[in-house]
Amino acid sequence: MGLLDKLKGLLFGNETVREGKQDAKPGVKPADTKVEQKPIITKPKEEKPVADKITVGHVHMSGCTGCLVSLADNYEGLLTILDKYADLVYCLTLADVRKIPKMDVALVEGSVCINDECSMEEILETRENATIVVALGGCACYGNTTRFCRGGQQNQPQHEGFLPIGDLIKVDVYIPGCAPTPQQIRNVCLMAYLLLKGNDEQKALATAYLTPLMNLAAAGTEACGCDLMTEVINQGLCCGCGSCAAVCPVRAVTMQFGKPQIERDLCIKCGACYAQCPRSFFSFDVCGQYESITNLIGEVMKP
Ligand code: SF4
Ligand code: SF4
Repeated sequence: MGLLDKLKGLLFGNETVREGKQDAKPGVKPADTKVEQKPIITKPKEEKPVADKITVGHVHMSGCTGCLVSLADNYEGLLTILDKYADLVYCLTLADVRKIPKMDVALVEGSVCINDECSMEEILETRENATIVVALGGCACYGNTTRFCRGGQQNQPQHEGFLPIGDLIKVDVYIPGCAPTPQQIRNVCLMAYLLLKGNDEQKALATAYLTPLMNLAAAGTEACGCDLMTEVINQGLCCGCGSCAAVCPVRAVTMQFGKPQIERDLCIKCGACYAQCPRSFFSFDVCGQYESITNLIGEVMKP
């Protein structure tokens, strides 16, 4: 094909002109120009069988729902957990299930109103149906400010007595904080999964992570400013964050020169400061394993 023919082809739209195909009409695609479509091969998505997951429930007693908000604040992390490691089998806010089912882990938020028959039944049923009961947040662990409810609320005036869940049932793990951080709730869920389903090494690290929180649960439901003084401040563990002063409802804790000072006469023993302190469950035993635990969490949380 000469140069002129080539130009004609370009000008009049017959770009497919080739040597030996001069007769092809403009706009008509010659048969040999068909592009063969290669079949797209997609790798089948690896699905983790649901049977490998643990079952988790959120049981809402008397609290402000801040702990549930903190759980939800894990965003994509929460989706990863629900996708790979845990099925949410009970949660009045997020799942349409009315009766407490059998489950591996129950996250219990809030304290229990002992004037309310339903709440009393619910907490006993939770213990019966859950392998591991976790007290989620300061109210479930120590009562916090709900300890001082004297009743008289407009909607439930007869509700005047609230107890931390450990006063009514055996609790296995505490997650203190008001509310606990999203990361801490996520880590406990992951560690519960690894404890129940992991290999030997993962089980050992999960045990190391959970032991200080299990020790808190074993220590009971009472905590006050004096406990903070003897177990944190006098041990040199205080980092001066001021959380205890911020949370104390009667201003019994003040920060002076970067350290908390506790006015014992004012303390009403609600345990809020102890629950909120990030060092109240500090453990020297876990320090050496911190890197391995962090790496493990990073590994299992990979999307
Ligand atoms: S110091 Fe304040 S926050 Fe701590 S237990 Fe006493 S009253 Fe509660
Ligand atoms: S919350 Fe704990 S670490 Fe923070 S200032 Fe109070 S005692 Fe210290």
